[in-house]
Amino acid sequence: MEDRYDVIVAGAGMSGSLAAAGAAKTGLKVLLLDKNNEGEVGKKTNWGWVCGDAVASNHLDFVNKHIGISFGKPELDLKVDGVIAYSPDLKTKVNFDGEGYVLDRPEFEKKLRNHAVKSGAEYVPQFDVEGPIIENNYVVGVFGKDKNMRHLEIRAKAVVDALGVATTLRRKLPADQFVDRIVDVDDLESTGRYIYDCEVTQEDLRFYDPKNALIHLNQQVSPGGYGWVFPKSQYGRVNIGIGVQKSSLEIRNAKLGKRDSLHTLMDEYVKSIPNLKNPKLFNKDNNGKGYWSVAVRRNIECLVFNGYLGAGDSMAMPNPISAGGIGPALVAGVLAGENAARAVHEGDVSTKGLWQYNLDFNREYGRKMAAMESFRVYLQSLNNDLINYGMSKFLSRKEAEDLAYGRTTELSVASKVSIALSGVSNITAFKNLVYTVKKMKAFNEIYGNYPKTPDEFPKWKEQVSKEMEDFKEKFKPNPI
Ligand SMILES: Cc1cc2nc3c(=O)[nH]c(=O)nc-3n(C[C@H](O)[C@H](O)[C@H](O)COP(=O)(O)OP(=O)(O)OC[C@H]3O[C@@H](n4cnc5c(N)ncnc54)[C@H](O)[C@@H]3O)c2cc1C
Repeated sequence: MEDRYDVIVAGAGMSGSLAAAGAAKTGLKVLLLDKNNEGEVGKKTNWGWVCGDAVASNHLDFVNKHIGISFGKPELDLKVDGVIAYSPDLKTKVNFDGEGYVLDRPEFEKKLRNHAVKSGAEYVPQFDVEGPIIENNYVVGVFGKDKNMRHLEIRAKAVVDALGVATTLRRKLPADQFVDRIVDVDDLESTGRYIYDCEVTQEDLRFYDPKNALIHLNQQVSPGGYGWVFPKSQYGRVNIGIGVQKSSLEIRNAKLGKRDSLHTLMDEYVKSIPNLKNPKLFNKDNNGKGYWSVAVRRNIECLVFNGYLGAGDSMAMPNPISAGGIGPALVAGVLAGENAARAVHEGDVSTKGLWQYNLDFNREYGRKMAAMESFRVYLQSLNNDLINYGMSKFLSRKEAEDLAYGRTTELSVASKVSIALSGVSNITAFKNLVYTVKKMKAFNEIYGNYPKTPDEFPKWKEQVSKEMEDFKEKFKPNPI
């Protein structure tokens, strides 16, 4: 490893490896750093590659189109028809996300890292990135410890932060009005995820479906989040988990007089799946059981700073409703690599020189995120009865699907009439849904006018923050 590069990419997860591949293939000198050893590339934490590992096909197509990688076995473990979300009473289901795959995550990460190396990036494992080097208000490199615990400073013209949700780079940037350094705890889901081999005792596609990724909404079981059962290629093997929002869990425990934690709820959820019996941990790559966090807000509004670009979980990119972060991490990795390379070649890595990356990501993914965040906040304000009622009566399937994609919809007259005939709490919840859809439209419009230059950004961001704060003031977590 040398002490000077064109681009340093910190983190060799999916966003980092793609950014490194994209920048290196333009002929730049690129360094890709990751704290894991070579055999465990992309591992998020000591707990493993903690993830549901489901990704929609269109995101893989995006990578193929831009970077030229095509995927197959072993990294694509199982093709699924889509994702199905069930209401708490299991009587209503909503399909979304279309065809996709459940990944063999360690294999997928290795493939991307190998592609980065083949494209010319220098990959250094077992390097712990501790923070950015900042000079004259520019990020000019990173510091950290190598595998021999030597403290090193490495410099570059541009640094890509792909360190995931616990990033040591974004959180240490100088305070300014562009990149937020803090993510609110209510915008995080604490998650648990196991991979189990189970005996399937009877067919009941509401709980285990070998062709679909299942989501269970239930404010008592996973307050402020959801449970999932995603199938793997071997019959009876599942990726199973829950996500919970801290405030929702606290409220639920207080109201029910319980002291449940993520861990106890996770174990209860596994036990509650009636047709999956005798679960045995499938611990390949030591990846059987883990806990981690995922952000479920709009992505950090500005993804660049002088000499710095962020991609993937480091920039809170997962979908606020589904917590699906693989797609945006892939898209952002590709775009960050392209934009870092362009700015370095043009000799302008200032916020202004990197601004195109904001526009590219907003166009490809980010523009629907604030709308989806507001819908998530609305959902977290509903108890099980209201979710049951809402999913079966407020929305047609098409409307529910649209909302889950952040698309706004004209709510059908039929549902409005049926609501008018029902109880007071339902009417309030329906009125709140109408209000939420209106707000979603407003957010989509604001994001349609994403600032073309950094000068316009502070005013635009103030508007986004104010609208979202007002919305959150109106809808508080209320799981029980
Ligand atoms: C339980 C759970 C379930 C999920 N399920 C899904 C799902 O089914 N579908 C979906 O689309 N998304 C899902 N997500 C989200 C998805 O896993 C992430 O969005 C995705 O991994 C983001 O990729 P990334 O490359 O940005 O970051 P990461 O995957 O977090 O990679 C970051 C890399 O940086 C390395 N690193 C971190 N800190 C340092 C450091 N200081 N120095 C050096 N290296 C460092 C890490 O070791 C890792 O290799 C889930 C998340 C969780 C927690």
